[in-house]
Amino acid sequence: MSEIERKTEQIEQIYASMGISRQVYDYAQDIWNSLKERWEEIDALSEYNQLKVIGAMQKNKVSEACLLGTTGYGYNDLGRETLEQVYADIFHTQDALVRPQITCGTHALALALMSNLRPGDELLSPVGKPYDTLEEVIGIRPSKGSLKEYGISYKQVDLLPDGNFDFEGIKKAINQKTKMVTIQRSKGYQTRPTLSTDRLSQLISFVKKCNPNVICMVDNCYGEFTETREPSDVGADLVVGSLIKNPGGGLAPVGGYLAGTKECIENAAYRLTSPGLGKEVGASLQVLGAFYQGLFLAPAVTANALKAAIFAANLYEKLGFDVVPNGKESRHDIIQAVTFGNPEGVIAFCQGIQQAAGVDGHVSPEPWDMPGYDSPVIMAAGAFVSGSSIELSADGPIKPPYAVYFQGGLTWQHGKFGIMKTLQKLVEKGIIMKDFDKRNL
Ligand SMILES: *Cc1c(COP(=O)(O)O)cnc(C)c1O
Repeated sequence: MSEIERKTEQIEQIYASMGISRQVYDYAQDIWNSLKERWEEIDALSEYNQLKVIGAMQKNKVSEACLLGTTGYGYNDLGRETLEQVYADIFHTQDALVRPQITCGTHALALALMSNLRPGDELLSPVGKPYDTLEEVIGIRPSKGSLKEYGISYKQVDLLPDGNFDFEGIKKAINQKTKMVTIQRSKGYQTRPTLSTDRLSQLISFVKKCNPNVICMVDNCYGEFTETREPSDVGADLVVGSLIKNPGGGLAPVGGYLAGTKECIENAAYRLTSPGLGKEVGASLQVLGAFYQGLFLAPAVTANALKAAIFAANLYEKLGFDVVPNGKESRHDIIQAVTFGNPEGVIAFCQGIQQAAGVDGHVSPEPWDMPGYDSPVIMAAGAFVSGSSIELSADGPIKPPYAVYFQGGLTWQHGKFGIMKTLQKLVEKGIIMKDFDKRNL
């Protein structure tokens, strides 16, 4: 018996001991093995991005002293200032703001908008409805302190039914007041396709042709390191995201980032802290080590999450379910949607993901009426960092079409195990037929 055969036998045994049946194991393994070419492509992507990150760290002479933090005002925080320059170099922007004081992705986006817009200005979304939480930031749904309350208006141009940009509509919507354009790269919790950097490039150059002074901001949540280029490489003036998603690499315990032009970042810094103070204050406390190390790991971690998503897409596609993106498509974010068409499927999937977790693997999630949602929602997350969605996680609203949104996985091994657990659960609950392997392979 060769060494690899011996290991394979041991792997089969440990899967069995962790509740994966022979049938589920064989089915999943066949799909995994059929994806070798995709794995090579993802490995090449992470190799490129790993070198990009190391290169930026070396260029800025990241040293042990950078990993220490400051307290109080945080004047002359070497680690903070160097990290912001590292981000700027990775995104090829003039400057960046990377702070634990930015509490989440929504906060980072709100900061970018509120600091760069002034009363009388107009914001345009040329890609349809923005992420749910931004509706209150903009004032689409009324909220205290919204852009609307400050006299900043909003226009929206939806994508065409075939998913293309409505260039005519965009041209018409851009007027004298249009100061900023907000473009969400990821599909978020919608079923439209995620925008590749190629498509972002097309859209941004069109907007700039209509009016070169418009600031193009991209909501980059879930998109970082999924391609070799970032939106700022194709003309975005400002890119924004959360550190408990891709760029935090699973280690950042909190935080958000903005990378962009000197002017945009200066505006944001003056808003985050105070006019006059800007980037000069903001103690980094004890988080810098995790920010640096998480960024260092982010290309590999994002690649692992992509592998888990591609595996899930292919497995559930083969079983006959609707999956977005499909098994073959190229990837521009880490989110995978699977439509089950019934609540039981969504619940079983989430329970399977939870059962694969290292933290809270013993609990079972149930749907509940979450504030802000119009139907019960079920969420699976056994995370080291609360709410972190670069870690293996899944959630779904209990309403038609009964789709589950799945993302993350710090290691592909965990992602693979999680997806196997979901299939096991769906079979045990009778949602997938017992002879599924014979029907579909
Ligand atoms: C997660 C996300 C946000 C908001 O981030 P939070 O950290 O949840 O506030 C905004 N836009 C997109 C596309 C996201 O995926």
